[in-house]
Amino acid sequence: MSDFDYDLFVIGAGSGGVRASRVAAAHGARVAVAEEYRVGGACVIRGCVPKKLLVYGAQFAEDLKDARQFGWDVPTDCRFDWNVLRDNVLAEVDRLEGLYGQTLDSHKVTVFRSRATLIGPQKVRLADGQEISAERILIATGGRPFVPDFPGSEHAITSNEVFHLDALPRRVVIAGGGYIANEFAGIFNEFGSKVTIVNRGDAILRGYDEQIRDRLLQISMTKGIEFKFNAPFRSIEKKADGSLTVTLENCDSIEADAVLVATGRVPNTAGLGLEDAGVDLDEQGAVEVDDHNQSSVPSIYAVGDVTNRIQLTPVAIREGQAFADSVYGGKPTTVDYANVPSAVFSHPPIGAVGLTEAEARDRFGSIRVYTSDFRAMKNVLAGRSERALYKMVVDEASDRVVGLHMIGPDAPEILQAAAIAVKAGLTKADFDATVALHPSMAEELVLMK
Ligand code: NDP
Repeated sequence: MSDFDYDLFVIGAGSGGVRASRVAAAHGARVAVAEEYRVGGACVIRGCVPKKLLVYGAQFAEDLKDARQFGWDVPTDCRFDWNVLRDNVLAEVDRLEGLYGQTLDSHKVTVFRSRATLIGPQKVRLADGQEISAERILIATGGRPFVPDFPGSEHAITSNEVFHLDALPRRVVIAGGGYIANEFAGIFNEFGSKVTIVNRGDAILRGYDEQIRDRLLQISMTKGIEFKFNAPFRSIEKKADGSLTVTLENCDSIEADAVLVATGRVPNTAGLGLEDAGVDLDEQGAVEVDDHNQSSVPSIYAVGDVTNRIQLTPVAIREGQAFADSVYGGKPTTVDYANVPSAVFSHPPIGAVGLTEAEARDRFGSIRVYTSDFRAMKNVLAGRSERALYKMVVDEASDRVVGLHMIGPDAPEILQAAAIAVKAGLTKADFDATVALHPSMAEELVLMK
């Protein structure tokens, strides 16, 4: 019989923590998990899932207009009710949270709905003072929005609050030029809000291929989203009527009804007792782990955003699975971080895998780049000028496709399948050997000349 209360104590029931908990339990471990907020974590509760539902909701703004060109009699006074969508989305989040709880229950994982902090390499304390010992502890506390320090920052909201707004803001200012900024710019713009993205630098979506970023910028501006570059926030002032004045460097101030700060997420490690337990953190506060998710303290492991490797849900899930299989399943597994596909659910969305043109040029020297710049058939009939752009980056020496970058309708759906080919190391000749599926947008991938 073990000397410990549990074999594994997991702090944080998000994507990584839940996966690790249930797989470890399925391998026979006695597992407990502590969650101070809601089971499911940022992705399910206030991230990917509710965001994607808002993206679907927003897309109707264009679809309803386009439907007229397809013969549908859509009234011109079609109105959107934010409260209906918000409540339906939040109800769906409740349902999913319930399912996550059921999964943990059915795997006999004990759930403590409490904050837990480390009080030693094999001991945690819950908020009510209860102390629990475990042979191993897994830190899976994720990240939280980072808000730069400027006067009036308390008047801004983050992605934590944006799903709960009482009303749709008439004018929204969004700080940041990354995933969340571009996704919510698209959402609010489609719902009819006046959107301004304010960026400290001169580029959006750093890390994505330049041509694809430029295309999103151009389409977003055509749709009415305004961009301010090289304009760090100076302050936000709240006026008597509740509206906000945003003061910027190098730019006129902007009046807004809501300010959304989307300037990155930082690892959730503050106050967890990690330093006292001897766990090494990096300069951003992330838990430093090796390829096996083990920290500098042998009994303490970490997975997901708290380790600040790739901040994506499917990566956290892989890490949680690899940890549980390695430690409890007798199947040592490490996560392969090469060619992880990603998407931005902007309007239109972006999908990408592998190296950008610039990265590939740096890595291989000699490359070939193929592009397809086209108007989706549906957009042509609908009278939309918006063009999709697909880009394939090929290593000249091996003919291997080392990067795929797409912006256009359904780009993430198409990219996920194409990412298999890139991950498998297939060549341009392999793509060319595949017969086109006509008529589709995806066929462009096998027709690039
Ligand atoms: P991102 O890292 O995508 O973008 C951060 C933005 O904020 C950049 O434009 C950055 O500018 C800017 N910024 C950073 N620090 C400051 C600062 N001190 N002052 C002003 N601006 C600053 O972060 P998000 O908040 O949009 O998203 C957080 C993470 O969540 C993402 O990295 C992603 O991993 C994940 N996510 C993934 C989604 C998806 O998969 N579709 C959707 C939403 C989030 P600069 O370029 O100059 O650094």
